[in-house]
Amino acid sequence: MNEYERPSWIPYARQSIDPADIEAVVETLRSSNLTQGPKIEEFEEAVAHYCGAKYAIATNSATSALHIAALAAGLGPGDEHWTSPNTFVASANCGLYCGSRIDFVDIDPLNFCMSIDALEEKLRARQKKGNLPKVIIPVHFAGQSVAMDRVRSITSQYGVCLIEDAAHAIGATYKGKPVGSCQFSEMTVFSFHPVKIITSGEGGMITTNDRNLYEKLKRLRSHGITRDEAYLEKAPEGPWSYEQLDLGYNYRMTDIQAALGSSQIKRINTFVARRNEIAKRYFDGLRDVPYVKLPGVIGNGLSAWHLYVLQISFDELGKTRKAVFEELKKQNVGLNVHYIPVHLQPYYRKLGFTAGQFPNAEKFYSQAVSIPMFYELSATKQQYVIARLRSTLGV
Ligand SMILES: *Cc1c(COP(=O)(O)O)cnc(C)c1O
Repeated sequence: MNEYERPSWIPYARQSIDPADIEAVVETLRSSNLTQGPKIEEFEEAVAHYCGAKYAIATNSATSALHIAALAAGLGPGDEHWTSPNTFVASANCGLYCGSRIDFVDIDPLNFCMSIDALEEKLRARQKKGNLPKVIIPVHFAGQSVAMDRVRSITSQYGVCLIEDAAHAIGATYKGKPVGSCQFSEMTVFSFHPVKIITSGEGGMITTNDRNLYEKLKRLRSHGITRDEAYLEKAPEGPWSYEQLDLGYNYRMTDIQAALGSSQIKRINTFVARRNEIAKRYFDGLRDVPYVKLPGVIGNGLSAWHLYVLQISFDELGKTRKAVFEELKKQNVGLNVHYIPVHLQPYYRKLGFTAGQFPNAEKFYSQAVSIPMFYELSATKQQYVIARLRSTLGV
């Protein structure tokens, strides 16, 4: 194939499943446990070990992981939680499930993550008013870690609980430590949806170093129920005994999913290394395209490169984003947009948010285009993508 031959459809993201992954799932299907068997603990231990965290709790999605993380943080009616408007709705919804009020901190236009300066300013203003947030959820947008050491040092005087939304960032590092080590946060949440770095079909995970949070998360994942004698209010009547201590959910991952996740995490460094190679080829191949800004880099660590997001000045280019999407679709190149600012969603507008409130996120959205980024994107296919993009963008 050369850069003019049209390959089959190239999506913006997709999973990579190898024979070992298939074997791991089939082996679980043949075993006696489809859920709550040995594979869950195996996957949890693998993630905790990889991230250098003491504990990990698997869930059936990152959305449910965020929900129980917010509950374990004590979030409830009368509280407030903050996140970035440039994220998937789940980062904001999790606190609403608990009855908390949402607010946002605008993004840094250089790296598209929550602006730490804006955060500092907003916290100071809120302290004067006496309504500080209880929980802040920084999002490691596109796979690079927010400067969590700075976030921790700014928020610690206010007693804020930090939950990292690292749905994009398993495999990333910050200042020498893996994202998920929770060095500067109470909890970190990962997603294993197929478009993310590693997959379990659907699935999520929370890492933490706090034993109490761990025990609470484990109960919340499974109806608030425990059989652990250390937590029972009464001595057990028999081996069937259990007690419900909290109002929990069924947010359990299956062993089938955990078998896939355990198999996938063995390749995580290979996945992330390839994503870094792909990012480098995009930087080299698109550097000189007019009206296009390439992604900004925070530095101090390795990005997992979940997304590669261009910012295109469509006005100057003289084409709409829709036209660019359609032209590239005809060439079998899939694009996407990350993200429609959460505060502009109809549900959030009904809560009182309006356009103009978080101008950096809104401007970023108006120019953002995510281009294909996934492990199996070969160098040849990527050259094709770059060539088609360049010609669509008038180069
Ligand atoms: C994908 C994603 C989620 C939700 O993950 P699920 O596993 O699909 O529930 C949450 N936050 C961000 C930033 C995401 O990209």
